[in-house]
Amino acid sequence: SDLPQLSAERVHELDRAHVFHSWSAQAQIDPLPIASASGVRFTDYDGREFLDFSSQLVNVNIGYQHPRLVAAIQEQVARMATLAPGFAYDMRSEAARMIAERAPGDLDHVFFTNGGAEANENALRMARVHTGRHKVLAAYRSYHGATAGAIALTGDPRRWASEPGMPGVVRYWGPHLYRSAFHASTPQEECERALQHLRDLVAVEGPSTIAAIILESVVGTNGVLVPPDGYLAGVREICDEHGIVMIADEVMSGFARCGEWFAIQRWGVTPDLITFAKGVNSGYVPLGGVVVSQRIRDTFADRPYPGGLTYQGHPLACASAVASMRIFEDEGVIEHSRRVGEEVIGPELARIAERHPSVGEIRGMATFWALELVRDPSTREPLVPYNATGDAAKPMAALAAACKERGLWPFVHMNRTHVVPPCVISDEDARTGLAILDEALEVADSFVV
Ligand code: PLP
Repeated sequence: SDLPQLSAERVHELDRAHVFHSWSAQAQIDPLPIASASGVRFTDYDGREFLDFSSQLVNVNIGYQHPRLVAAIQEQVARMATLAPGFAYDMRSEAARMIAERAPGDLDHVFFTNGGAEANENALRMARVHTGRHKVLAAYRSYHGATAGAIALTGDPRRWASEPGMPGVVRYWGPHLYRSAFHASTPQEECERALQHLRDLVAVEGPSTIAAIILESVVGTNGVLVPPDGYLAGVREICDEHGIVMIADEVMSGFARCGEWFAIQRWGVTPDLITFAKGVNSGYVPLGGVVVSQRIRDTFADRPYPGGLTYQGHPLACASAVASMRIFEDEGVIEHSRRVGEEVIGPELARIAERHPSVGEIRGMATFWALELVRDPSTREPLVPYNATGDAAKPMAALAAACKERGLWPFVHMNRTHVVPPCVISDEDARTGLAILDEALEVADSFVV
């Protein structure tokens, strides 16, 4: 084989010597060498196994090493390993058909990319050319990717170091009742006020200058914020009224994470563009894309679309997407995700929230949940300050360590831990992981005032 066998020590040594890591101070990290993975677990070189409550970066929706998915990629690489995007080829045609058929309304065309950020870059480019306008409204509580445009759309602190970003981005507050920007006290009030705020912004920015409103159908890394009923429909109305393109970022929320193909389908709303990545093929090969409405596609019927990527719609990526969607259907992954959320994760988390003073709120659906941790349940002061690092972030680091010691790999972001296991997780594994989280939360409780 051309693939050498490396010891754990060698893996670590070479990593420290030569790998430049994302989002990290290079000298302050100590990445864990991983030897193998299967189903909902991965294992280090000492044989320590972790039940994965993070799905890596919330993308391994189908679990690790699914035999049919691995076989499909092997079959495709033997048939045709690479092709330029200008040709037509079988698995890209088939992947596009399958995605178009699952997407709502007339979103019938797919522009493939290599990941989520590129999908958002291209969605915005399409919206700008389509409308001839330049502004875009994006939420403070959002993450849209780390390329120049996508990080400028992002509302969370990950954008700070890349500012000043792209001209024309205007930010708004989306609905989030627990920390309402509108002093609302009911979901309905929050919904109405968030929509009014958006309407006001559109008015003062000038509707004729606004190309797009972008939102995550269910906000992901910024807190699993499930929109109140009526919110997405309200955004759709605002867009319709002013000829603004509605972009739904489903990079994290799509492909079973919310118990639907696309989360927005839960509310019966059809955006103009949907961006996807992650769960489409669980990251076995990098893939993302934009699902495009007929109207926007028609803008480019006789006018060249000004964008492209060498590896877009890569044969291995598209073959894996085709296989993954077939597996989702044969194994009922979407229904399973919804049911395990309704019957196991949701009810267990409700019990956990009752037992732990540090749990301010739980929220979510299907296999997409967040626990918002607080230092003081009465004031809702977050367990760690906004964007805390180092010592200030210690309570969250201690919680993560307590989970890992017990064999659970958690997802931790600011003052939240998210329960985002592979969507295929069994009831029993979900209960096992939640029992560990329950125990580990005593660490968080110890920081409550
Ligand atoms: N959009 C959302 C909602 C995401 O969660 C992410 C990644 O976490 C992205 C976009 C960016 O995707 P990628 O990292 O594949 O570029």
